[in-house]
Order: sequence, then C-alpha cells, then structure tokens
Amino acid sequence: MKVLISADMEGTCGVVDWVQVTPPWDAPASAAPSEYETARRQMTAEVAAAVRGALAGGASGVTVNEAHDGMKNLIGALLPREARLITGHHKPLSMMQGIDEPGMAAAIFTGYHGKATTPQSVLAHSFTGFVQDIRFDGLSTGEYGVNAAIAGHFDVPVVMVTGGDICIAQVKAFCGDAVVGVEVKKELGTKAASHLHPELAVELIESGAREALQLAREIPPWKLRPGARVELDLAHQEQADLAALALGVERTGNLTVAFDADDALHMMHMLRSMFNAIMTKFAV
Ligand SMILES: [Zn+2]
Repeated sequence: MKVLISADMEGTCGVVDWVQVTPPWDAPASAAPSEYETARRQMTAEVAAAVRGALAGGASGVTVNEAHDGMKNLIGALLPREARLITGHHKPLSMMQGIDEPGMAAAIFTGYHGKATTPQSVLAHSFTGFVQDIRFDGLSTGEYGVNAAIAGHFDVPVVMVTGGDICIAQVKAFCGDAVVGVEVKKELGTKAASHLHPELAVELIESGAREALQLAREIPPWKLRPGARVELDLAHQEQADLAALALGVERTGNLTVAFDADDALHMMHMLRSMFNAIMTKFAV
C-alpha cells in the first residue's frame, strides 16, 4: 500500500499570514525572509511526521507531492529517506501528482486550508484569489474537493487531513467523517489562529497518519459523477468573460460559468484552462 502526501502550506501550525507562506521570489520587499523560513521548516517537519506515521502504519512507500505556491517549499533533506519528493509546477496532476503511481492506496492532505470565502478561516481560498466558489452538482467545495475527486478517479481515498479546525470540518463534510483530522490550530480569522506548540503538532500528525493508514481500507474513494455539472463563481465579470471562451463552457450568471465533466481529470483540466486564461494578461 503506497501513500501520496499532498503538501500545502497555509494549514501549517504557526501560519496565519500570506507573508509566512510566500516564497522570496514572490514576496514583497517588506516581507521578512525569516518568517517564510520558519514556516517552511514547520511545513517540512509536519510532512516528515506524516511520512513516518504512514510508514509505521504499514505503507510500503510514500510519495510527497509539494502542492504550495511554486511547489518547491519543502526542504527535501529533512524528509525521511524512504520518501520520494515531487517538486515544481505545471505538473499534469497538479496538487495530486503521484496519485496515478502503481500501488497508490491512500492520500493524505497536509497543511490544507478552507475554501474561498469561508468566514474566520485562515487564508481561505480556492486555488487563486479570484475563485469565489466551485460546485459539483450543486455541492460547494474547495481545493480539497477537487483533489479528493482526482484521487477518487484513481480509486484512492483521502484518509487524513492536517490543518485548522474549520478546514478539517470542511474536508470531513465533503469526504466523510471517517477521514482522520489532525488539528494543529483553531482558526479565529482570515489572519488569526490559536496554535498548538509546533512540536506537539508534529507528534499528533505522526500518530494520526499511523491511525489513518489502519483505517484506509474502510474509507471509500470520493467519486465525481460522470457528467457532473461543475460550476465556477468568479470575482469579476471580465474573468467570467474569459472563462466562458473555453470549449464547452457556458455563461450561466454574471459571475458564474458551468460545464459538464466527463470525469475528474476532465474537471481538473477545464478548471486549470479557465484559471490560466484568466491569469493571462493580454488575452485575445
Ligand atoms: Zn497553498
């Protein structure tokens, strides 16, 4: 049984502000590099703990897929030697690269965060600043839902999530209560939280991953219905103009576009195409 760890950063213990999770090449001149360095070390420590826990729980191998801004924040030398590490961006399966490897049987989300517009949720967003909501057949979701559906496409269940309490509640509401949630902070606002001691967070993640692996066979994969209606709410009408130019996409509201997804990979490709079109400065 192999395990994929999809490692995001906003849900890391100690993190409450963008400056802590913005790599130096993207950061404003006013940002203190030490804040980012502290956060990336804790992110790495939490991922390393999840690797150790998964191995102790019976995993035959662990692949860590870096899944935050630029996707090269983890410090590879500080991960257990047994883990493989995927870094870099424009990966075909994005935050879930590696889920298609032979023998993959469980997925763990570390450092995850709430979906866009969630009140009192630390750095809540869905992929980009301009996505307001994503819905599958009317069911609202965020990055965790898109990624759970990609895992489900390969018959792999999400067995564990680490992050703040609100994020964990959203993942459980979407994926099922059996998912093990390791809460490293109580979310108090978009930029406020009450944190565990970072070392305690690491210990709990290790034991949580061990427990999650033992439950893995009892947790069903999350399956996107073939033909599911996928809706995307955007922040500005021009973004909806651009998204609606993609093949098969309908404009269904001032700020809303929609399409029917053949499967989860089609869904992911359509969303990424629309995001990329919106992020293009001089679209024609
Ligand atoms: Zn992130």
